[in-house]
Amino acid sequence: MQKTIRTTCSYCSVGCNMDVLVEDGVPLKILPAKDYQVNFGKTCTKGFNLIKGLEGADRGVIPLFRDRVTGKTKELNWDEAAATFVQRIKAIQKEHGPESVAFLSTGQMPFEEMALLGSVTKFGMGFRHGDGNTRQCMATAAVAYKQAFGFDAPGFSYEDLEVSDAIVLIGANPSIAHPIFWQRLKNNQNSPEIVVIDPRATETVADATRHLAIHPKSDLTLLYTIAHILIERNWLDQGFIDAHTSGFDEFAAHVKPFTPEAAVGPTGLSISQMEGLAELFHTKKAVSLWWTMGVNQSHQGVRTAQAIINLSLMTGHIGRPGAGPNSITGQANAMGSRLFSNTTSLLGGHYFEKPEHRAKVARILGINESQIPPDAGMSYDQILEAVETGAIKALWIICTNPAHSWVDQTVFRTRLKKLDFLVVQDVYASTETAQLADLYLPAAGSAEKTGTFINSERRLGIVQKVKEAPGQALSDFEIFRRLGAAWGVGSWLDKWSSPPAAFELLKEISRGQPCDFSELKDWNELLERGGYQWGGKRLFEDGRFFTADERAKFWTSEVVPLPEVPDTAYPFFLLTGRGTMHQWHTQTRTGKVEMLKKMYPVESYAEIHPDDANRLGIVNGVKVRIAGRRGEVVVNAQVKPSVKPGYVFLPMHYPEGNYLTYPMFDPYSRQPSYKFGAVKVERA
Ligand code: SF4
Repeated sequence: MQKTIRTTCSYCSVGCNMDVLVEDGVPLKILPAKDYQVNFGKTCTKGFNLIKGLEGADRGVIPLFRDRVTGKTKELNWDEAAATFVQRIKAIQKEHGPESVAFLSTGQMPFEEMALLGSVTKFGMGFRHGDGNTRQCMATAAVAYKQAFGFDAPGFSYEDLEVSDAIVLIGANPSIAHPIFWQRLKNNQNSPEIVVIDPRATETVADATRHLAIHPKSDLTLLYTIAHILIERNWLDQGFIDAHTSGFDEFAAHVKPFTPEAAVGPTGLSISQMEGLAELFHTKKAVSLWWTMGVNQSHQGVRTAQAIINLSLMTGHIGRPGAGPNSITGQANAMGSRLFSNTTSLLGGHYFEKPEHRAKVARILGINESQIPPDAGMSYDQILEAVETGAIKALWIICTNPAHSWVDQTVFRTRLKKLDFLVVQDVYASTETAQLADLYLPAAGSAEKTGTFINSERRLGIVQKVKEAPGQALSDFEIFRRLGAAWGVGSWLDKWSSPPAAFELLKEISRGQPCDFSELKDWNELLERGGYQWGGKRLFEDGRFFTADERAKFWTSEVVPLPEVPDTAYPFFLLTGRGTMHQWHTQTRTGKVEMLKKMYPVESYAEIHPDDANRLGIVNGVKVRIAGRRGEVVVNAQVKPSVKPGYVFLPMHYPEGNYLTYPMFDPYSRQPSYKFGAVKVERA
């Protein structure tokens, strides 16, 4: 029998819906949903290959235990795997204390699964520490919004892209990173100014009206300078500032020294480029500012994101159609992770630190308040440092591949070797991280299970099972339930009987929060409504924010110089970023799809300017050695003027780049900066 099953794409955060035609449990065809308010019948190449990405020959189909002495792996059944997990983790906790274990999770599972993981570990197994790869992606935006608006609340709808008359993209390359988002922008009939602020001439720049090819990591200086110009010329919305913000006078004093003349050197931009950008806020009706990893992955990411927010607040370009300071999320469920993973915040955007929040969550989940830890525990980088010192002895890594994606791989891999026990749970047993595991647990992919994602515009979207997982692979939800039961976490686990049951628990927890979705009668209503945006279509239309005084707050910091810049030994500036539309992150799934692999280079490459290439005797396709203070790699040269002379760009989808990246973290969000390092380049 044939039927069509609708589900949400599990790659990027745009959140496109797909209709999968299935016959007797076999997917026959996948098409983008025509009536879904996100993608309106469009998809990118990854969405079309959502299921193919789960069909690699090396799918994990059975739990595996690796003997450290012989290196040989042994197949286990699930009872044996659960018993091994429980016995080893409990033994480590007994010897080294409950805090000696931690988990590292993801922004790519449905939020019901994230919440169950965060609950089973922190409320049942005594874990104090757990974080997710959202730390690598959205932590900066989350902290910036929390401090400025009182809640982690990006206020926009994609519709805003279609009505802005000035669109400013900062450290973002949506043409390849968020393709359907980019399509929505291209629908704009207002002939908008499209300004791209990026050191590289990216695919997005090709369609922009202005490119500000800024010096890397000088965005904070530029944004303070724009604010300076706006104040000098009185291009402000004083009424909005007075009625709806706090801290403007301190902010104005802070940006006073940031004159355009002083910014020319640090930013590499001309005074007229800076003045032209400032003028948009004065002459255009609706200016929207959009940022992604070029801002988030910075040593001063939070203050840079807030410098963007400040521009919107001081000019009143917020809370109106087409206006706003908007962070585009990265992974399919990064927003779900921010609110419901029980890592950086207690479930539902609550605070671990607040007794009334602990009491509310405990009551709904049927647990004792004392089972909820009094703080969020350590961040990703702090957990890894604790592995280094021996304070953390066991790690459980779920649905993420840090042995490729974490910064400064030489150090990272040395640290993993110090663990007494490493558990990796993923769809493929072949990821760089899974190959290092003591215990590997095979998981179902997104098309093989049920749940909910939250996309960039705060829309809850349904994830439905369209096929069975292979072999003995189980949904992450089922794995967490089995491990929780084997551990003996308690009868409260019965409330988490299925993803729709978990949805009901989280719905109740969301009640009264800005992310409230309690008006939905049940999970199925997501299908009927075509998704659901918490907070409605647009936040802050009434000028009221989620802070105690309902005012948005201006934040500033001193500009901190980079700790490593090119010098005579390492004369090139390293840039990293996305490679093509057809690749996703560490390529665990896109790397299995033959059709996609035909559209991008299979081996890692570096983009080098033709002038540098000529000088160094490098031609297209030859091997080049790129060396820095933390490691060296050999990749293929791509000679092109996408980068300026003196720069070299490596795409993130290949493992090589992170042997060169500099391990520095934003002090507020603890997000790593992936976007700089000094290297030398030579023909290999
Ligand atoms: Fe999937 Fe993003 Fe492509 Fe949409 S734009 S199909 S969500 S990868």
